[in-house]
Amino acid sequence: MSIDLAFDRQHIWHPYTSMLNPLPVYPVVAAEGCELILENGQRLVDGTASWWSAVHGYNHPVLNQAVTAQLSKMAHVMFGGITHQPAVQLCQQLLAMVPANLTKVFLADSGSISVEVAIKMALQYWLASSTPQKQKLVSLRKGYHGDTFAAMAVCDPVDGMHDMFANLLPQHYFLPAPQSRFAGKFLPEDIAQLEQLLAEKHHEIAALILEPIVQGYGGMRFYHPEYLRRARALCDKYQVLLIADEIATGFGRTGKLFACEHADIQPDIMCVGKALSGGYITLAATLCTDEVARGISLSAAGGLMHGPTFMANPLACAVASASLDLIAKGDWQQQVAAIEAQLKHELAPCQQSPLVKDVRVLGAIGVLEMHSKVNVAELQQRFVELGVWIRPFNNLIYIMPPFIISPQQLSKLSSAMCQLVNV
Ligand SMILES: *Cc1c(COP(=O)(O)O)cnc(C)c1O
Repeated sequence: MSIDLAFDRQHIWHPYTSMLNPLPVYPVVAAEGCELILENGQRLVDGTASWWSAVHGYNHPVLNQAVTAQLSKMAHVMFGGITHQPAVQLCQQLLAMVPANLTKVFLADSGSISVEVAIKMALQYWLASSTPQKQKLVSLRKGYHGDTFAAMAVCDPVDGMHDMFANLLPQHYFLPAPQSRFAGKFLPEDIAQLEQLLAEKHHEIAALILEPIVQGYGGMRFYHPEYLRRARALCDKYQVLLIADEIATGFGRTGKLFACEHADIQPDIMCVGKALSGGYITLAATLCTDEVARGISLSAAGGLMHGPTFMANPLACAVASASLDLIAKGDWQQQVAAIEAQLKHELAPCQQSPLVKDVRVLGAIGVLEMHSKVNVAELQQRFVELGVWIRPFNNLIYIMPPFIISPQQLSKLSSAMCQLVNV
């Protein structure tokens, strides 16, 4: 039976699109390796890893086996008053990978929720301290941290997807996005405003939240590790917690296991998601230090006031655990380095296009920043005709493919991008 596209169009919301005049959707019936298979049999090389998540590719035998084995034991059980091996094992693996100061794990059911939890941790930590008035956050323009309300309140207040709710959101401090490019010269004035803000307002600031090195959906920008190093130092100096949102960058995407490693810093609180479960089942985590956990336990509530129904879902934990095993083997290092080298080479000609403002590549991320907004539906269709799945937004045509992509498949993606900008 074919997928009822008319029903879908009438009744089902898709992300970030109108219900009355939605962007078209493509019916996918299967996915395998680095390919999506459409209902008409066409195979598309995937340039998105389903929004950064499917780093090992689709229909992976090891990940399939992990879900199946867990399914025969239990699909789910509540986490209040109960624990289980998939959760314990996953958290052991996770703690062995993350910066060493992080010792406590909260398993959340999506990236946005892990950001909510991170913010709640920071606020609750200070509430129990001798400076309970530290309840404001600092965030960067061009930042993106999710779609729920506390997360929205730290997304870019102007360009973010959420400017229409501005009056309902708690007001935090925003700093200009870092201008020093990843591989460029560090501009010390970049950090001056953070220093000034913290010097003046640190008594009311709980935490700085940022996406380390790669600002994702706020513009796919790669900034200088020195910014992150200095931000860490300033947070220490002014007693402000540092929350690193590694939801997009975590697990190898930028060429380091975590983007914080580019600057050799450790955050006080860290969010991971997206690639955590290898793209199989929604799962995220918020990690924190002993010190943050200790502070929270001194608060009036005693515990952290959060507990989703599907917290630590065993199927999600089991597949995440298998995914982290694959990450721990380390093949991603060579894979991501090879993707980076190939993309730098193959996307370079796009710089010649008058339509293109900037071409940038970091790890397994390739970006064409256009001078103006693209027509998503039209580009999408042309990409599908060229046999690739690439989903542009705003003025960005970008890819972050599964790490297992072959050189031939990657060439297909980059040549489609070149073709669309006429080079
Ligand atoms: C995707 C993303 C989120 C939100 O994660 P969801 O799982 O979509 O809720 C938060 N922060 C960053 C940096 C992200 O890329």
